[in-house]
Amino acid sequence: MRLVFIGPPGAGKGTQCRRLSGEFQIPHISSGDMLRASRDDSRIGKLIAGYIDGGNLAPDDLMMQFIIDRLRQPDCENGYLLDGFPRTVNQAEMLTGFLTERDQRLDSVVNLMVDENALVERLLARAESEGRADDTPETIQTRLKVFRNRTEPVLKYYRQRGIVIDVNAAGTPDDVFAVVRDALG
Ligand code: AMP
Repeated sequence: MRLVFIGPPGAGKGTQCRRLSGEFQIPHISSGDMLRASRDDSRIGKLIAGYIDGGNLAPDDLMMQFIIDRLRQPDCENGYLLDGFPRTVNQAEMLTGFLTERDQRLDSVVNLMVDENALVERLLARAESEGRADDTPETIQTRLKVFRNRTEPVLKYYRQRGIVIDVNAAGTPDDVFAVVRDALG
């Protein structure tokens, strides 16, 4: 099962993907986690940190390199959950190219929907509990804007292919998990 999770920051992509990864026994691939793990004192590490901390997207080519390296690993053969990738139409097209070369396709794109006021509250609460550098009020606004401008078109791209599952993600993680699992099962 090859799945993509799309949703604005704070929609619960990471939480749901972690649980589903256990349920379906397929790897959870978080583009944000991959980039955070690459923050270091190297030139590229510093560049990546700048994108994350400003709430802006890393360049498509760079992101694609990370993802392709990961998707080529043997544990991805039976499928995976992509969390936070693709975030631009260009990334989505590159992913389609990668899959098509292998005679593969995505099964579903899960769209986690939460209203913006609730998202801001969740992200500010996460800032207190996890201390993520990009959960500041200003950066949250940037990330929401980036989602609207760059990532919502990705949903349109996949809607045209008829594979989007819309999920109301306003409830508790348990409620949302039950809905997503049923929708995919
Ligand atoms: P996330 O953990 O998914 O909220 O991602 C944290 C940050 O990593 C984002 O705000 C971006 O700066 C960067 N990032 C994550 N995924 C991508 C992607 N697919 N393309 C570009 N930048 C990304």
